[in-house]
Amino acid sequence: MAAEVQRTVIENCSIATVDAHDTEYAHGYVVIAGNRIESLGAGRAPEGLENVVRRIDATGHLVTPGLVNTHHHYYQWITRGLATDHNLFDWLVALYPTWARIDEPMVRAAAQGSLAMMARGGVTTAMDHHYVYPRDSGDLSGAIIRAARETGVRFTLARGSMDRSEKDGGLPPDFAVETLEGALAATEATVREHHDPSFDAMTQVAVAPCSPFSVSTELLREGAVLARRLGVRLHTHGSETVEEEKFCHELFGMGPTDYFESTGWLGEDVWMAHCVHMNDSDIAAFARTKTGVAHCPSSNARLAAGIARVPDMLAAGVPVGLGVDGTASNESGELHTELRNALLINRLGSHKEAALNARQALRLGTYGGAQVLGRASQIGSLEPGKLADLVLWRLDTLAHASIADPVAALVLGAAAPVTASFVNGRQIVEDDRLLHVDEDEIARATRTEAQRLAKLAGR
Ligand SMILES: [Zn+2]
Repeated sequence: MAAEVQRTVIENCSIATVDAHDTEYAHGYVVIAGNRIESLGAGRAPEGLENVVRRIDATGHLVTPGLVNTHHHYYQWITRGLATDHNLFDWLVALYPTWARIDEPMVRAAAQGSLAMMARGGVTTAMDHHYVYPRDSGDLSGAIIRAARETGVRFTLARGSMDRSEKDGGLPPDFAVETLEGALAATEATVREHHDPSFDAMTQVAVAPCSPFSVSTELLREGAVLARRLGVRLHTHGSETVEEEKFCHELFGMGPTDYFESTGWLGEDVWMAHCVHMNDSDIAAFARTKTGVAHCPSSNARLAAGIARVPDMLAAGVPVGLGVDGTASNESGELHTELRNALLINRLGSHKEAALNARQALRLGTYGGAQVLGRASQIGSLEPGKLADLVLWRLDTLAHASIADPVAALVLGAAAPVTASFVNGRQIVEDDRLLHVDEDEIARATRTEAQRLAKLAGR
């Protein structure tokens, strides 16, 4: 059996493994066998390997684990460039009426666009937190999952929901929300249809009510019970802005972290986007319970939300990954920017130049992401036995050739060209082009669907 496994050998590259010791090789090799990493190390690959179907001379390249995105909203790909000077609550109120008009073809095109942008930028594990399910809008979850499969990335759908509308003191308009019962039933059906618990799963599903200000206390509570009954992870937005903090104090008589704890939403099976407004005891609660954080520095800056205390979280032992967040609050939609901005923006905080270094930023975008998605034993670092999700970054062109340190080049330099990206041992990107979907066709579809949505929404 083992002899029949096909091997790909990558040689003459530098390697940042992002393993527990941050092992790096200035000149090394990686052997992929089937969908796993078989071996890696310094120098040339071992002699006498059987069934080598491909040898890649990766001179001038850095090989890293594929990037892992831990927070996104794909549907926003067709509502970019709107409400560009708003804070979170004003931005949401401005956009909800448009978002409530989405349908399946729009969500399909938006998912394809979001996935294409991420995948060709070195993302190998993607996620979508989708929480807008207008009545009779079609199979939105199915459309998103199919788009991920076509692109070839590993994928987590966080099946979101909203049931607290304006009439219940929430932010979304009444016509944009589901009922409590409807949201729970649809979420359970999505998990049962699509979630794969296996080691090399390409599709997983999490339970993901949207946020304290758009979801009832019952939906949070029942959602947590549902996720644990089904054995899947939990995801939501938390502690994003001062306005959210004020909202929680007014409605629930406590801050967001205490509110989440009271509804069953702290735990090692939970990850939360943003976590900007956290005091010491909030961070200690996350550390104690191993609740994960999706740090989204660009979106936090775009919406003037503030700077998450990532160095303090890491020091306390909180698992932290990176997220682009939806592209209505981060138009670029690619994860390299988040590596860079995580480092730069955290240095503007109280820890100054000691806040994060380039290697820590790379770790957030790879192993940290795998941790918060519950997949650290499978992906997120380059180690024998792990799944073959890895990227060959080209660092010998104009943009990077004179930068001394390859990891600094990747994190601090311009977005590096991707010569090849592998997911589950299968190549999905070659020379910056996606291999399994047509980028130009997707670009046309996203434009058409964005125009159709704008017209429907009367913009
Ligand atoms: Zn978000």
